[in-house]
Amino acid sequence: MTPEIERALRLCPDLPSLSGVALQIVEMGRDPDVDVGALASTLAHDPALTSKILRVANSPLYSQRRRCENLRQAVMLLGLNATLTLALSFSLADSLRGATGGTAMVGRVWRRSLLAATAARLAGHARGLESVEELFLAGLLQDIGILALRAALPEQYDALLGKASDHDALVTMEYEALGCDHAEAGAWLMQKWGLPDYLPLAARGSHRPEAGRAPAELSRFVACVAVSGPVADYALQPEETAMDTLVRQAGAWLDMDDDAAVALVEGLAETVPEIESLFEFSILEPHQAAALKDQAREVLATRNLQLLQEATEYRREAAEYKRLHSELQEQVGRDPLTGLYNRGHLDACLEEEFRHALAEGWPLSIGFLDLDHFKVVNDRHGHQAGDAILVEVGTLLRRQVRGEDIVVRYGGEEFVILLPGTPPTDGVQVFERIRRAMGAQTFALPDGTGMTVTVSIGVAGLGADGTGFEDTDHLLRAADRALYLAKRSGRDRVEVAG
Ligand code: GH3
Ligand code: MG
Ligand code: MG
Repeated sequence: MTPEIERALRLCPDLPSLSGVALQIVEMGRDPDVDVGALASTLAHDPALTSKILRVANSPLYSQRRRCENLRQAVMLLGLNATLTLALSFSLADSLRGATGGTAMVGRVWRRSLLAATAARLAGHARGLESVEELFLAGLLQDIGILALRAALPEQYDALLGKASDHDALVTMEYEALGCDHAEAGAWLMQKWGLPDYLPLAARGSHRPEAGRAPAELSRFVACVAVSGPVADYALQPEETAMDTLVRQAGAWLDMDDDAAVALVEGLAETVPEIESLFEFSILEPHQAAALKDQAREVLATRNLQLLQEATEYRREAAEYKRLHSELQEQVGRDPLTGLYNRGHLDACLEEEFRHALAEGWPLSIGFLDLDHFKVVNDRHGHQAGDAILVEVGTLLRRQVRGEDIVVRYGGEEFVILLPGTPPTDGVQVFERIRRAMGAQTFALPDGTGMTVTVSIGVAGLGADGTGFEDTDHLLRAADRALYLAKRSGRDRVEVAG
């Protein structure tokens, strides 16, 4: 909690306080010698409290055959601790309700507290915890910080309460406006009251149990209280988003599957009438409670269906992005006129092929090709005719080599062909075949006539033992020198680097 908020709480003259009975109960809880008789006689001073304890003892929450006729029997049945805790729940509930009078917003806080208290009890039961009354009390008090903050920062906090659409939204706004949430303020208040440690610890972990500071033996307890919030939120707003939050958090914090999470809602819907009668407060309209029970599984199914649809849609989009990405990657490495690889792609893959060849002792051939007197083609027939021929040359070159060979338009009327796995002795024959195919092809001209084009080729490469050149630069330059030799020796020739 920030120092400013703590100061505001400390200096606040009208924070919620413990009633006389509640104080006595807290005291008794600390006394190791307290016995059934002492507890029964203290409670007997408060007839309202007495009748509530009797009603709990005789309620379906404690199914037993024999009716409890008096407080003593009730305390025996419930046990000392549970009775103390229940008594505290009732007397605190009274003071909380008094303090929450007023806006509809705080009425909602109180309804949520009662729902959450019931849900915390159910979650504990489902997870085999024995301290279910303590869970009820901790669930009930988890949002008491809201009352403390209202008292300490009346205008500022009421504005937040008025704006927040639900509990989660309130927590987010609290962090933004105050730098802490009501869970911390509540824990602070409970410590000030001298309540047993498990209560402030549960409040502190109620929004994010994983970030709490509860000792290991209390972690399940704190998680039950944390899960009780989303159960209550779903009961107040039974929509798919609330179900989604509940199922996720029950899974993460209590290791519950969907079924167990929904069972909490169903159990809550069943228990609500009992809690309403004990606390003399109407939480849900009867038709709401019935709908809550009947529809929870449907809402879960809808939520799961939606998740499935979202996942399918997501996978489809991901595949589409992947396709677009590789298409773009391809385009980046391509020459737009011929569709062959471009020089950028050659730089990248020559480097890689070269490394592989050296590492594995594989051969590699490279041919540098340059069309002969191509300037004349342009001069005589126009640039467009030249372009069309370049496209056809591209097609021819691709057809003359294997799929794994790499055909590159290096620039202008120059091409490079990489033959991985082929030693230069064999490479020369491939390039000879290409040279002959070029010379044999008639390229169509716009005027309906045709023409032939020849090519000069320089070849270099790594031998079968993967040796010959120390890097790609030397290899390329050797092929270029061989090409120059082919040109000088009369063109329409293949020359091999010496
Ligand atoms: P050499 O036998 O010595 O290679 O003669 P050349 O005319 O082919 O060589 P040079 O390098 O002098 O000229 C290359 C010509 O290729 C120049 C240009 O008109 C043509 N050229 C280069 N790129 C393109 C292109 O994208 N489209 C067309 N139509 N022509 C191009
Ligand atoms: Mg040239
Ligand atoms: Mg040329």
